[in-house]
Amino acid sequence: EAPRSPGGPRRVIARYPHAMLVALAGGVGAARFLRGLVRVVPPAEVCVVVNTADDETFHGLTVCPDLDTVTYTLAGAEHPEQGWGLDGESFRTIEALGRYGADTWFRLGDLDLATHLFRTERLRAGATLTEVTAEITAAWGVEPRLLPMSDDRVATRITVDRGDHHEVLRMQEWFVRERSAPPVVAVEFDGADRARPAPGVLEAIDAAETILVCPSNPIISIGPILAVPGVREALEARRDRVVAVSPIIAGATVKGPADRLMGPLGIDVSCVGVARTYAPFCSTLVIDERDAGRAAEVAATGIRPVVAETLMTDARVAAALARHTLDAVA
Ligand code: GDP
Ligand code: CA
Repeated sequence: EAPRSPGGPRRVIARYPHAMLVALAGGVGAARFLRGLVRVVPPAEVCVVVNTADDETFHGLTVCPDLDTVTYTLAGAEHPEQGWGLDGESFRTIEALGRYGADTWFRLGDLDLATHLFRTERLRAGATLTEVTAEITAAWGVEPRLLPMSDDRVATRITVDRGDHHEVLRMQEWFVRERSAPPVVAVEFDGADRARPAPGVLEAIDAAETILVCPSNPIISIGPILAVPGVREALEARRDRVVAVSPIIAGATVKGPADRLMGPLGIDVSCVGVARTYAPFCSTLVIDERDAGRAAEVAATGIRPVVAETLMTDARVAAALARHTLDAVA
């Protein structure tokens, strides 16, 4: 296949023939971890497979929250507290849209909009999400290779309890518009059964020295990646080389709604619940020091526990955690 744009996605992709490390990633938890990882390994040796089931169309634009969170964080351009968007962002455009009665509950910054405009235009011109992602990361000087889990549309749908009836919400409606408040009944990944892994995803998993499962939401960040046909099997085949970091510390999430999803789906909100969920395809789980007392329960699920400081308060802690995680399967 010939490059479809000047400068060519092909050329960008060809810079990373053999990723040594593959990381499965959602948004903010993953981004924090990856920021540490690129401090302890050559960034060009990292291939990140990113969840796209949170993607949504707003105002006609294709928005990919997890891809953008990882991109902006690796570029050092992320908003320091928010967990999404760019540092120093303004919101004049989204506010102006409110004049026309458009929905403004999903905040899109003025600078962030440039990414969505560019991506949408490139997709409309026939580029794949894989190609556009390579172009966007190259433009930000991000060295690791970022792959969407799939170029096909997969969408997380959350069934919630409205008291007298159930309603199916789009992920962003539940998470952002309704602030994760409605009780969850079920989670589905619409389109996952027909989705194909993006080009390079299975090859990267097969060839990687180590596969890292970032401290991301197990249900709606890692879950959709596993739901893409072929991915779970590829990981199972490499189980000895798969290591995860628990996103749950002392029975609580650090950020985000993982607890609002795990509980209703019958998964214990703890590192033990994470261990049970990951054990079929993962050999080692890094759990937090605060959970050291639960190591035996984790081991009983068939996964090897390794204890470390996992609360990534800054990039230095994240780098130490990345080092520990790699050493855990050395
Ligand atoms: P989202 O798509 O932005 O929600 O991002 P992720 O799925 O990647 O991250 C959300 C998960 O990351 C939550 O379950 C958090 O508990 C977890 N997380 C965030 N920061 C940290 C941290 O410093 N340490 C650990 N262990 N988990 C974290
Ligand atoms: Ca997300």
